[in-house]
Amino acid sequence: MSTGPVRAMVLEAPGTELQEGEIRRPELRPGQVRIRVGACGVCRTDLHIRDGELPDPKLPLVLGHQVVGNVIEGNDFADGARVGIPWLGWTCGECRYCRTGRENLCDRARFTGYTLDGGYAEEVVADARYCLPLPDGPSDEELAPLLCAGLIGYRALRASGDAKRLGLYGFGASAHIVAQLAGHEGRRVFAFTRPGDETAQALARELGAAWAGAAGERPEELDGAIIFAPAGELVPEALAAVGKGGTVVCAGIHMTAIPSFPYELLWGERVLRSVANLTRSDGHGLFRAVREHPVRTSVEVFPLAEAELALDRLRAGAIRGAAVLLVAAQPPPAT
Ligand SMILES: [Zn+2]
Ligand SMILES: [Zn+2]
Repeated sequence: MSTGPVRAMVLEAPGTELQEGEIRRPELRPGQVRIRVGACGVCRTDLHIRDGELPDPKLPLVLGHQVVGNVIEGNDFADGARVGIPWLGWTCGECRYCRTGRENLCDRARFTGYTLDGGYAEEVVADARYCLPLPDGPSDEELAPLLCAGLIGYRALRASGDAKRLGLYGFGASAHIVAQLAGHEGRRVFAFTRPGDETAQALARELGAAWAGAAGERPEELDGAIIFAPAGELVPEALAAVGKGGTVVCAGIHMTAIPSFPYELLWGERVLRSVANLTRSDGHGLFRAVREHPVRTSVEVFPLAEAELALDRLRAGAIRGAAVLLVAAQPPPAT
């Protein structure tokens, strides 16, 4: 095992470019495992942190909370076991949220790639209790988007109740996974994209959506909706599209201001709610579902050093499916 420094992409200050460099090898504390990173998904939240839209990140910071890798040190998993590190990195276990199955709301929670160093690096350490064992079969890069896009999508899908006709606003990394989970549950998916985004609409149809078109269109009444795009104006739009008793779930960590809207849009026992973070139980639930009905992830792969490019393309809405950094070092050339 190497003991030298670790190659990483580092955020020195919000609003500045990630710098490729070497960081000191993270120290392994009791209860932690050391993981050699194979791939790390690039999430819209990474972009919000990088751009300074989320307060008080650890600095300097290694971003990345959709980490897939192999355990190389620590006692809780077999050596070499493949695990995932999600956003929820640690909780207090004592507060009223932690004690009632809502550890996602813990005030003292620590988050991977935000208040803890994450996976835009060759190695990372993580609390073993929050690492998720992963299914065999798919490659590291195919699994990476499940660790946040999939998990938040799964939690949002549960929060949408039993909506048979489900609208997904913003058809990116999360929605392309949720569309498949929802399909396996016998729901009909309606995918709403930016006007003219033929690529996302085509992907939605490929993945089984009953309909795909522009936000603002009303193909038929919906029973529930999930908003993944960070655009506040989609809230009244989605409320108008769901029938009485329907739930609209906001799944993003950041959203532009929601414009005021007439009370009729909420009347009729419509529910508007957000989902925040995830619990370990969501993690186990998602991977149980995926082992039963595998989902296909559509990924665009970038080398670790091109993290900025991946974030730029995500910002521009130019990623089809999910962006993933391929981190695993290439084997050294034979001598
Ligand atoms: Zn707590
Ligand atoms: Zn995320």
